[in-house]
Formats: sequence, structure tokens, C-alpha cells
Amino acid sequence: DRRRSVMASPAGCEHYIRSCLLKAPCCGKLYVCRLCHDAEENHQMDRFKVQEVQCSDCLTVQQAQQTCQQCHAQFGEYYCDICHLFDKNKKQYHCQACGICRIGPREKYFHCEKCNLCLAQELRGNHKCVENVSRQNCPVCMEDIHTSRIGAHVLPCGHLLHKTCFDDMVRTGAYRCPLCMHSAWSMEDHWDLIDKEIAQSPMPTEYQGVTVKIICNDCQTHCMVPFHVLGMKCTGCGSYNTAQDGGLIHPPPPPPQQDAANEPDTEPEQQDQQDSPSPL
Ligand SMILES: [Zn+2]
Ligand SMILES: [Zn+2]
Ligand SMILES: [Zn+2]
Ligand SMILES: [Zn+2]
Ligand SMILES: [Zn+2]
Ligand SMILES: [Zn+2]
Ligand SMILES: [Zn+2]
Ligand SMILES: [Zn+2]
Repeated sequence: DRRRSVMASPAGCEHYIRSCLLKAPCCGKLYVCRLCHDAEENHQMDRFKVQEVQCSDCLTVQQAQQTCQQCHAQFGEYYCDICHLFDKNKKQYHCQACGICRIGPREKYFHCEKCNLCLAQELRGNHKCVENVSRQNCPVCMEDIHTSRIGAHVLPCGHLLHKTCFDDMVRTGAYRCPLCMHSAWSMEDHWDLIDKEIAQSPMPTEYQGVTVKIICNDCQTHCMVPFHVLGMKCTGCGSYNTAQDGGLIHPPPPPPQQDAANEPDTEPEQQDQQDSPSPL
């Protein structure tokens, strides 16, 4: 065993553990994997068209297969003869519908026909399907999701992004789906905090009674709510993930009252200034 660990596979790469090289169908060069090929060349290698491999132990070039026909070295614990993927065992499986290999175990995933992607079993009947969503690029990094080696994360709105891109959103507090602005995770605790902050910070008197129209990014409700700099709360679902729709709406000036007849006829703003408390 000690000897084995010293004998690092000469053909492994940062992407895969394997002891053969792929003969690129495009340029005929030998590379450990398509990712190494793509990083070196100015074109992409089609993994499905690979026909030959070279054994890293005895250097025999041969038809792609799991075990060397010459020295019987195993090229990889896992081998897919569609993707020509050799690697250590990561409980991979080949999904026919996705058309590529994915890291399993298979029983933990199902292929959603509508999203057209393998998703975790706990999302079965429990996620919002978006037609062919997996064929769109990640809205954070704009790169491919479907064939990415980085796992996908499904947002509550059904849009997909890379797991790592989602982690970045969490870290930076960017809580909205970049595509539809729907909240990207449960925000209820945060909305409760804003409720409390607003209760403790009433708007200055000149904004008393001022309202705005808002549209909720979470439930699409249009409503009219009190204006507050800390946030405008959707009356439909309680979310503060809302967008202001138009300017401030000031309340109509109060009708003149009989017992106010002696007061000077001033504009409301000036009245507000007079109402402000004087220093003690
Ligand atoms: Zn090539
Ligand atoms: Zn060999
Ligand atoms: Zn495969
Ligand atoms: Zn699949
Ligand atoms: Zn789906
Ligand atoms: Zn991404
Ligand atoms: Zn979305
Ligand atoms: Zn709402």
C-alpha cells in the first residue's frame, strides 16, 4: 500500500484520476482529459467521439475500454463507454436523458423531464419546473450549467445556477434571482427584522400619510403601502422584496377646521416645521 501511494498515476490530472490518455478525435493529440485538451487547444474536444486511448503504463494505443488489453492495468475505477469518462469511483452514473455522466449515487437523483436535468430526489414534485431551464446559462457567471462539472442549485423560482455561484450570492447577501428578482431563499426572518426596525424608526412627520405603489417581486401583488426608507412591505405575502412603481403619493391636505380659523394660512410643510419639537 505504501508503494501504491508513492506511485501517483502518471496520467492523472487535476480533473480526473485515470491511467490512460485520450486520443483527441479532433487533432489526434494525447491528453488526460477533454478539460486539459480544451485548456491547451483553441478548440473543444468532443468527448463522445473519442475512439482510442493510450495506456499510461505500457503506452499501448488501443480502442477505448476500461482495462488495458496489453498489460491489464485498469484505466479507471469508473468507465462510461458513451462519454469515454475514466475516473476514480465517485458513484457516477450515465443519465440517458441528460446525455452525460453525473456524480451520483444514482438513487439520490431523478431526471426531471421538464427542467431536463437530474435533480436531487427531495426536489421531486417539490420544485418549480422551468421548461428546459438547464440549457440556459448560469445567470451569475453566464457559463454553461448542463454539462458543467459544478452542481446546479435550483432556486424557489425554478431558475438554476451553479452551486458555487449560489454560495457566492449567499456570502454577498445578493438574495434575489438575477433573472426574475424572486427571493432566492426563505427571507421570513429577515422581513421580521425589518418589521421591527420600521416600528422603531417612524418616518419624519412630513412623510406621515405618504404612500407609494409597489410591485412584489415574490408574489407579483400590486399594492399601495406607506412609504418608508427602510422598505415597503407587500400586503400580499409580507415580503420586502418589492419595487416602487411611481412616485410618492401625498395625502390630500386636511380640510380646514373651524377651531383652526385663527391660525395663519400656511403651507403644510411650514406647519410641519412649526410642529417639530424645540430643544429643551
Ligand atoms: Zn483537439
Ligand atoms: Zn497497458
Ligand atoms: Zn457517460
Ligand atoms: Zn439526467
Ligand atoms: Zn423540474
Ligand atoms: Zn455560475
Ligand atoms: Zn428566478
Ligand atoms: Zn408579495
